[in-house]
Parts: sequence; structure tokens; C-alpha cells
Amino acid sequence: MTAAGRTAGVVIIGAGHAGGRTAERLRHGGYVGPIDVVGIERELPYERPPLSKGVLTAPEVPANAYLLPASKWAELGVKFHLGCEALWIDRVGKAVTVSNGTVLPYRKVVIATGLVPRRLPALAPVAANVIHLRTFQDAVALRQMIGAGRRAVLIGAGLIGLETAASAVKRGAAVTVIEAADRPLSRFVPAYLAAWLAGLHAAAGVDIRCGRRVVDSADAGGVARLVLDNGAHIEADLVLVGIGGVPNDRIARNAGLSGENGVVVNEFGQTSDPDIFAVGDVAAHFSPLFARRWRLESWKNAEDMAAVAAAHICGSAAPYVETPWFWTDQYDHNIQVAGVPGDTVPSFERGRPGDRGYLAYFVEDGRLRGAIGIGCGRDVRLAREAIKAGGRVDPGDLAARGFAATAARARRAS
Ligand SMILES: Cc1cc2nc3c(=O)[nH]c(=O)nc-3n(C[C@H](O)[C@H](O)[C@H](O)COP(=O)(O)OP(=O)(O)OC[C@H]3O[C@@H](n4cnc5c(N)ncnc54)[C@H](O)[C@@H]3O)c2cc1C
Repeated sequence: MTAAGRTAGVVIIGAGHAGGRTAERLRHGGYVGPIDVVGIERELPYERPPLSKGVLTAPEVPANAYLLPASKWAELGVKFHLGCEALWIDRVGKAVTVSNGTVLPYRKVVIATGLVPRRLPALAPVAANVIHLRTFQDAVALRQMIGAGRRAVLIGAGLIGLETAASAVKRGAAVTVIEAADRPLSRFVPAYLAAWLAGLHAAAGVDIRCGRRVVDSADAGGVARLVLDNGAHIEADLVLVGIGGVPNDRIARNAGLSGENGVVVNEFGQTSDPDIFAVGDVAAHFSPLFARRWRLESWKNAEDMAAVAAAHICGSAAPYVETPWFWTDQYDHNIQVAGVPGDTVPSFERGRPGDRGYLAYFVEDGRLRGAIGIGCGRDVRLAREAIKAGGRVDPGDLAARGFAATAARARRAS
């Protein structure tokens, strides 16, 4: 028993996907002590992928995709402090101070604070028209703004920008996407796939302008007038900024924990203080599979890191060795990416992008390093396992399964 007569337990900072899943995993792993979860949002933990998809396009606002219903959390004995910010980790006194004045003593802390969306100073004059899509409330507000005939400008042709473009077009909005890089999705998929996706958007009526930046804006009677770096003007009823986020690592930095592009953790999710873990979008971990340190901003990473940190706290440590994986849904296509495809053409392909069941393998030094599948989730799941296992790829076997080496296909086409 310490501060205010509370028993020290696990304090989870951030009631998002990774924070919520860590709490659940702790109980399933046999942890019986107190679990306190502190969250700025007033919602129980929920999944964010529907925010740029179903929440925008369903005929009615769908229910939030909660990880668990409130009754289940009560059964698990997890205590939430919602609408509260964790302000300070006292590593000497072993307590977390919360904005409502509560002081939570801890044995272990798990930092699961996610990202802070990047903002564009040039949009300050039209702040009333601007939205950043991170929370369920953001999505509901955006949904109300993208009805038929509305002019939507989406800044950033990343996953959130393009998914929102597809959703907004479906709702009848006129959509323009402004991207500073010379192509969409440059952080996510190889150029050939981005070109195919850009074609889908163009066919749906989305105006994608690459190599352009918004440099100024002005309010024109409730309409945002945006000025681009080539002098062009665009009018918008709403402006979605989807230019990524920065790791929300302030509380970790203030506590003196090591960090560089996020909170640095080892293979068990432990920070430079072994009693403090970090999981999800905020955590920079080392991947033994790809021999590099990175932060992954994906549903699966939130799941996997939560599992690893909770297992370690429960005393059955297994290191984080997983193949990165994410998906995106645009128009009628479910696109899944596993591993690291790089910015090259694939080594082997089955079909072409746009074909149902398109699958591409990216092979380096005879081993599978990445895979992209469209509408074939099971194949990508198998590829994920193969990447993790690190086995050698047999071209003869692939040919027998209907894959063509890309170079061979290029020769046939010429
Ligand atoms: C619109 C959208 C669509 C997405 N689509 C996909 C997809 O299709 N596929 C995919 O793989 N991934 C997708 N993702 C990514 C995925 O949702 C994230 O990787 C995942 O939510 C990360 O979980 P997290 O717990 O690290 O962060 P979050 O879920 O963002 O949770 C962090 C929480 O911490 C809270 N917090 C921050 N600081 C404090 C503090 N000091 N005190 C208390 N609380 C604090 C925040 O308010 C937030 O609620 C999408 C994300 C978004 C936003």
C-alpha cells in the first residue's frame, strides 16, 4: 500500500488500442493485481481502422468498435480513469500523477500514448474548416462534413488521406488530394502499386495533385480558400489534414526515458527503465527480422506489442519477433502489405493489381521479405508466417503455383 492507501499495480497510460489490449492481456496472463488505465478520451478503448472507412460511409453512424464492452472490463477488474491525462511519472516514488489529482502508485507502467497528428501552420486562418482524423468524435464530425456536393480537400495522400478520399467520394463529395511528395503512399507501398491506386481514385473523380503544398489560406465567408505553392487557389468546405503524426512521447521524455523518434524499447517492450514499458504507435522497437529499429503505426503492432509487454509483466517473456502487416480498404479493394516490400517491382507476381487475388512476393537473397495481396488475406497471412520463418523461396515451386518472375513478365509484355 502506498499513496492514498492504494496498492501498487500496473498503470497503463493511454486508453487506446494498445493500452486497452495490454490490460486485457494482463488479466488473461494471470496478473491479479490492480490495473489502472488513464485515458484522455472519454471512450473505453476502441479500434481506429473503421474511422476512415465504415464510420464515414455506413448509412447510419455505426457503434464505436470497442475492444470489449464495459461489462467485460468490469468483470476483468480493470479500472479506467477516462477524460484524464497522465501528467508525470515519478520514477523514484513509483507513482503516476493524473490531471484529476489522483496519484497512482505502480509496480509497472505501460506507456501507450499513440501519436499526435501533425498540423499545418498555413491552415491557421481556416481552423474552423480543418479536421485531423484520430478519434471516433473526429470521424463523426468528418462524416457530417462530407455530404453530397461538399468540396473536400485532403492534405496528404497517405493511407488515411486516400481512404478518406474513397469514403468521401462514396458520400458524393467533390474531392481534391494535395500531396507534397511526387507520388501517393510513398511511405507505404511501392511506386507501381501507388500508381495503380492513383488510377482508381482518378477514375472515381478524385483530383490528386502531387508535388504540391498548401502555403497559405484565408476564410472566405465560411469557405476555406487554400493557396498552393504554384499559386493555384482551391476552395474547400472542409480540409482534412492527413500528414502523419509524431510519437506522443512527452511523458516518457519528461521522465528521462531514452527516446529517438518515439520511446525506445527492447524486444520485451521495456524502456530504459525496466519497470516502464511502451507499446503501440509510440514505441520504437528493434526488429530482429529486419535488423532495424522502427515504430510501426498499425493495428497489428498495437496487438503484438500489448501481448509481449503483458506477457513479460506476467513473467512469461517471449520477445517481439513479428512480421509487420497492415491493410487498407479503398473502393472495393482490400489491400494487405506484409513485411517490407521496398520501393521496387515485385520479384514474383500472380496476376496484376486490380485482378481479384493479386499477390506479389518481394524476395531478397533468396528469402521472402515482403508481400502484397489484393483481396487474398489468407495468402498474405501465410506470407507473413513465411517471412517470420525466414525460409528460402523456391522459384520452381512459385512457378508451379502460377507466379511469374517479374522480369519474365516484363519480357513477355515487350
Ligand atoms: C483513421 C485511422 C485509420 C486507421 N486504419 C488502420 C488500418 O486500416 N489498418 C491498420 O493496421 N492500422 C490502422 N490505423 C492505425 C491503428 O489504429 C493504430 O496503429 C493504433 O490505434 C495504435 O494504437 P495505440 O494504442 O498505440 O494508439 P491510440 O489507439 O491512438 O491510443 C493512444 C491513446 O492515448 C491517449 N493519451 C495520449 N497521451 C495520454 C496521456 N498523457 N494520458 C492519458 N491518455 C493519453 C490518447 O488520447 C489516445 O486515446 C488507423 C488509425 C487511424 C487514426
